[in-house]
Amino acid sequence: MKALLRHLFFLLLLISLSRSSAAIRIITTIPDLADFTREIGGKLVEVESLATGVEDTHAVPVKPSHAAKLNRADLVIALGLDMEHSFLPALLEASHNPRLQPGKPGYLETSAGLTPLEVPRTLTKSEGEQHAQGNPHYNLDPVLGRVIVNNIADRLSQNWPAHAAAFRAGRDAYLAKLDAKIAELEKLAAPLRGTKFISYHNHWPYFTARYGLVYAGTIELRPGVEPTPKHIVDLVARMKAEQIKVVVREPQFSEKTPSRVVEQAGAKLVKLAIMVGGVPEAKTYLDLIDYNVRTLVKAVQP
Ligand SMILES: [Zn+2]
Repeated sequence: MKALLRHLFFLLLLISLSRSSAAIRIITTIPDLADFTREIGGKLVEVESLATGVEDTHAVPVKPSHAAKLNRADLVIALGLDMEHSFLPALLEASHNPRLQPGKPGYLETSAGLTPLEVPRTLTKSEGEQHAQGNPHYNLDPVLGRVIVNNIADRLSQNWPAHAAAFRAGRDAYLAKLDAKIAELEKLAAPLRGTKFISYHNHWPYFTARYGLVYAGTIELRPGVEPTPKHIVDLVARMKAEQIKVVVREPQFSEKTPSRVVEQAGAKLVKLAIMVGGVPEAKTYLDLIDYNVRTLVKAVQP
C-alpha cells in the first residue's frame, strides 16, 4: 500500500511538473490571430486556430473537437465585433471552461481601442445581419494589424507577468517586420487610388480606407443575405454605367455568381484572401497583406 501511495505521489508530482513547464495553450478563431500570437509568444505558447483560412468567417463549423480544444486552453483570442457570433458563443458554452468565458482574463477580443466602420444607426437586428456591431473585417488593414498585435501582447503580459519581458521583445521584433511591410505596401498600392471595385461579401471597407479605393457595392444583398436576381441585374447595370471594372472574389464563396457578374459587366475577377490560409500564397499575415495588394495592383494595371 505504502509503495503504491509513493508511486501515486511521484506520478502526481510528475504531472504537475510537466504541466507547469508546458507552454501556454491558446486557441484563436482565425489564423491571422494565431500567426500574431506565435510571433509574440514564441516557444512560450502553443497556438491553434479554429478556422483554417478557407471557411466563411461568419460560419466556422461548430465541431465537438473545437469544444475539446477550448476545454484545455488557457486563453481564447477572437476578432470580436460579432465576427464569431455564429460559432464562438456555442463553442465556449460546450467547452465547460470557466476561464475562457467573456469578461474573464482568458477571453480576448482584439478590437479594443479600434473605431469600427459602418456601425448601424438603428439597433434593430435585421434578419441575417452579420455586421450588427459595425464591420468586423478590420484584420484586412495592416495598420489595424498593429492594434491587434498590441492587444494580444498586452493580454499575454497581464495574464502571465513572469514572461512580460519576453512578450514585449516578441511584439517589438514582429512590429518592426510589420511596419517595414506596411511602408513597402503603401508605395506599392499607389496605383490602387480611386479604383472602383465590388466584392462578394462586405469584407473590404478597412482595406479600401487604407489604400484609397472606391468600394462600389457587394454581390450579396446584405452581409449574410444571398443576392436576388433583381440585385444582380441592377448591379451589372451600375457597373457598366460607373465603369466598375474589378470584382473581388473571396475564396470562401462560390465562383458562380461572381463569374456571371464579371462576364455581364465586362469586368475582371480577382481572388483575394480574407485571412491567412485563404490562398496558398498567404501562409503568414505578412504574406496575406502582401498577396492582396500585389494581386490587386496587377489586376488594375493595363
Ligand atoms: Zn462579414
